[in-house]
Amino acid sequence: MSDNLVCDPEVMCCTLNVLPNTPALLQKARLPLAVHVQPLKDIPNVPVVKVDTIVRCRLCRMYINPYVVIIDRHRWKCCMCSRFNDLPEDFSYDVKRKAYTNGRHRNEMNSSSYEVIASPEYIVGNLAVPVYFFLLDVSYNAIETGYLISLCQSVIEKLESLKTHDNVMVGVMTFHTSVHLYNIHHRYTKPIVYKLPDLENLFIPAPDGLLVNLKTSQSLFVDLLTNLPSMHKDNKEIGSCLGPALKLAYEILAPTGGRVSIFQTKIPDVGEGSLKSREDPNKRAGEVVQNLTAATDFYKKVALDGSSSHVAFDLFMLNTQYADLATLSVLSRYSGGCLFYFPNYHLTSNPVESSRFDETLDRYFSTNVGFEAVLRVRCTQGLSLQLFHGNGFVRSVDLLSLSSVTPDLSYAVQIQMEDSIEDTKVCIQAALLYTTNRFERRIRVHTICLPVSTYLSDVFAHANQMAITALVAKMAVDRSLNSSVADAREALTNVALDALNAYGENLSSGQRGGQLPCPFFLRALPLYILGLLKSIPFRLGVSTKLDDRVFMLDQFKTLPWTHIIKYIHPNFYPLHKLNDRNALYVDDRVICQPPLLPLSAGCMDRLGIYLLDDGFNMYLWLSSSVSRAFLRDVIGVQKFGDVLSGLFEFPHLDNVWSENVRNFIEYLQSTRSTYSPVILIRDDQTDRVMFYERLLEDRTSDVLNMSYIEFIRHLHSLVTY
Ligand SMILES: [Zn+2]
Repeated sequence: MSDNLVCDPEVMCCTLNVLPNTPALLQKARLPLAVHVQPLKDIPNVPVVKVDTIVRCRLCRMYINPYVVIIDRHRWKCCMCSRFNDLPEDFSYDVKRKAYTNGRHRNEMNSSSYEVIASPEYIVGNLAVPVYFFLLDVSYNAIETGYLISLCQSVIEKLESLKTHDNVMVGVMTFHTSVHLYNIHHRYTKPIVYKLPDLENLFIPAPDGLLVNLKTSQSLFVDLLTNLPSMHKDNKEIGSCLGPALKLAYEILAPTGGRVSIFQTKIPDVGEGSLKSREDPNKRAGEVVQNLTAATDFYKKVALDGSSSHVAFDLFMLNTQYADLATLSVLSRYSGGCLFYFPNYHLTSNPVESSRFDETLDRYFSTNVGFEAVLRVRCTQGLSLQLFHGNGFVRSVDLLSLSSVTPDLSYAVQIQMEDSIEDTKVCIQAALLYTTNRFERRIRVHTICLPVSTYLSDVFAHANQMAITALVAKMAVDRSLNSSVADAREALTNVALDALNAYGENLSSGQRGGQLPCPFFLRALPLYILGLLKSIPFRLGVSTKLDDRVFMLDQFKTLPWTHIIKYIHPNFYPLHKLNDRNALYVDDRVICQPPLLPLSAGCMDRLGIYLLDDGFNMYLWLSSSVSRAFLRDVIGVQKFGDVLSGLFEFPHLDNVWSENVRNFIEYLQSTRSTYSPVILIRDDQTDRVMFYERLLEDRTSDVLNMSYIEFIRHLHSLVTY
């Protein structure tokens, strides 16, 4: 069997690996049915197919895939609707072997994920030119953070990565209380600056010089980026007219579409779209969370206008004070963009966020980007799509329109079972039609095929508890926005309770044995649910900034399921137990692995060194009892008093211990697409709270945040059988 025959679960997976055969049985299981799909995930060597005729079912439009049946040289049977279809003449002819085969020599039949270069009928009008437009806050506040220096350097360094095609276009706009545009047409020797102070009457002063071909205008673009920080270094304007600037940016990009990268450091407070603070710092630890939804429709309208013209808004928030992310985040949500957040960013005084910003930009400018994309999901008869989760504009129940799409964006689709499944298996297929940044129209196709069972026990035995948890996290975000965080928490608890009730009801009292029975493949579900209840979006009674909460709510809607699980249930390693017993061999290097610990302080030894990795950050914990040998050989200091908390980089010291630790950390970084800074936590300093609050199994602070044992007892008291 080909390695690619089964779809990588990180690309596409279902909450249930065995489906019940009837709606009644699904109802009995009380588990959610959905697929997660990360359609553009970086897959090494994804097969690319170039054909004259793209083979699809004539009835249900499914793309051919490894799960169809090739009947003979002329026909194939669809695995979704069972229709017999014609095969193109050359499909089953293997040129290498000079013989007709069952089609298994073809990439479409050999890999659950493949990409087709689209034929002309998949191209409507002209192809989308890759367009990158920068919308930059240059208010006093913004300049003071120093972000502009870092950003401009990063763009200059990554220019070659942006030049994926001769057609790539770029443009820059800056704003504080007025808007500034830059004519960088190659016929000029220096950029020309247009200052537009009249926000009521903004206009496009130079139609052909604001969005220019990167290849021909590269020197002016670089000149502009090089000088932008010094041009604005003395800005004293404290206001921010993001709203009017956005509308003008949209006007400039509407004819071409493209990606607008917005860098914003404060709440917009000048002109249309102005916002006021809606956060009461005294209520951050309250049991009622207000103002999670947008204060005005202004930004949603801009986003939807953008979406209809294939303009995506990516928002980089670098605010120290409240900036109303609840209102601004709709820009990326409805246009298919991304939201990035660097709270308290400062180039020099906040090394953690500063390094995160640099690393994020590094990936942002070098990663694959798709433009003018649509994501369509199809499934076997009897199943129907119910709801999309993820950034984009839902055009119809099975079609999501995405102005831009990146490898890191993930989507989930809830599925309804309307009729009994007659077949012994079901197929679900996600197809992403997009224009690459190399100016090619392509379709990336992912297919999964799952068995169907008449037994509830099979459904439980093959439930994917991580995928279920990530799905209910996305549903709980909707519940928080449409109802309240308290309601979302109740719904989350009910997910664990429903699964336990459904399982327990089908056991005899003898089988239950007075315990709280839990199916093996759902045994971590209560722990993950507790992780969600204690996570920033859904926690109550713990001081949480509104923007922090809104950012994580947004992340839960767009993060891949694996990332959500790591965030709510971090990996916890005793670094002092790094040994080669379970070592991995990667690129001729031995990567020693420490064991994984339960997330409880009860598992810690004060002499030990611990690493807690939640996918966003790696917390390195040290106490004053740590051995001097470790301090000397790994941390590079002589005594605990010399250890500095905060961003930490392991020094290259010439000993095995140091090398093993560095190799392990590098290995962890290599397993993710987003950078996680190492943050050193000293147990004698107040920021240790950041570490201890992630120890999920322990009780934290108050009654709303139970320990794991207490939560299990709580569930046990609520089961109904
Ligand atoms: Zn079909």
